[in-house]
Amino acid sequence: MKKKRNQIKTEIEKLRNNDFSTKRVTVKALEKILYKSFKILDHGFVRVIDYMGNDTSIVQAARVSYGKGTKKLNQDKSLINYLISHRHSTPFEMNEIKFHVKLPIFVARQWIRHRTANVNEYSARYSILDKEFYIPKNENLKPQSQSNNQGRSGDLSSAEIKSYSKIIKDNSRIGFENYSKLLNEDESGRMIDDSKKGLARELSRMTLPLNSYTQWYWKIDLHNFMHFLALRFDPHAQYEIRVYAEVMMEILKKWVPLTYQAFVSNRLNSLTMSSHGIEYIKSLIKKRKSIPKNISKRELETINKIFNC
Ligand SMILES: Cc1cc2nc3c(=O)[nH]c(=O)nc-3n(C[C@H](O)[C@H](O)[C@H](O)COP(=O)(O)OP(=O)(O)OC[C@H]3O[C@@H](n4cnc5c(N)ncnc54)[C@H](O)[C@@H]3O)c2cc1C
Repeated sequence: MKKKRNQIKTEIEKLRNNDFSTKRVTVKALEKILYKSFKILDHGFVRVIDYMGNDTSIVQAARVSYGKGTKKLNQDKSLINYLISHRHSTPFEMNEIKFHVKLPIFVARQWIRHRTANVNEYSARYSILDKEFYIPKNENLKPQSQSNNQGRSGDLSSAEIKSYSKIIKDNSRIGFENYSKLLNEDESGRMIDDSKKGLARELSRMTLPLNSYTQWYWKIDLHNFMHFLALRFDPHAQYEIRVYAEVMMEILKKWVPLTYQAFVSNRLNSLTMSSHGIEYIKSLIKKRKSIPKNISKRELETINKIFNC
């Protein structure tokens, strides 16, 4: 395993030492981190493999210009802000980014629902998976939330944490032991019993649990990337996918800083409201608080939280 890790490190370093000249736009801050792995969870990572465009490419596409398309920085900034706030998506679809991601299979199942990306996944029909499992840290082991059916909240006793963590670890170990038995190969690829043929990789993998790691190349345009981030950076998203979105938000900031600012203020820190919500706000402004009959509990909670009332 250590040998493999060193080999990967050397390959990444080799790539990082390459230097190409190009007439295309590049982004200094992103070039600096190109190919670098950002560690996530216990064995996962995200790294940028390639990208196309910068903030000015969006402006250029929006103006369908021959030249750079840029005017003054302030004008570009307000155009980008206008495009995002009015949900003009196509100029942002001109920019693309390609990632290499390593993630637990149960996270990958959520991630793959974002259909607007191009994906190529590591083949466990072709290759043997590493003995790596996501084992949550104790602080992330929590009971089922009572208010949100899709989440966790509250605390477990330390005895429960210890016992659940052990079950997860044992299940992972047993799953991998059975995988190796079916393959008739140990972790380092040595045959276990030379009187047996072993089962094909595409079938042996069935015993691996959902916390096994997979990897993929994931390419997406900027518009859909922001859509992915809006959903997965959100506090309602599961912690294990949100931590990936957090790292990718920093990457977005380096790649297209003006778009990032507009995205944060117009999408992440903004509020879409129903007519009942507006009615409620109007009553608050008039200092005659009245809760509309048809307002949803979730919307009411959100408004009260944002406006501190
Ligand atoms: C907190 C959270 C909880 C979730 N819970 C569940 C769950 O319990 N069960 C479940 O199944 N999923 C669940 N999902 C997944 C969710 O329903 C979406 O499938 C996922 O977030 C991808 O969103 P999307 O379809 O907008 O993205 P993308 O697939 O990237 O699509 C982007 C946009 O392109 C358009 N588009 C893409 N493909 C089509 C198409 N074929 N036809 C029409 N328009 C298209 C749509 O406008 C779409 O919004 C959850 C997601 C989140 C964030």
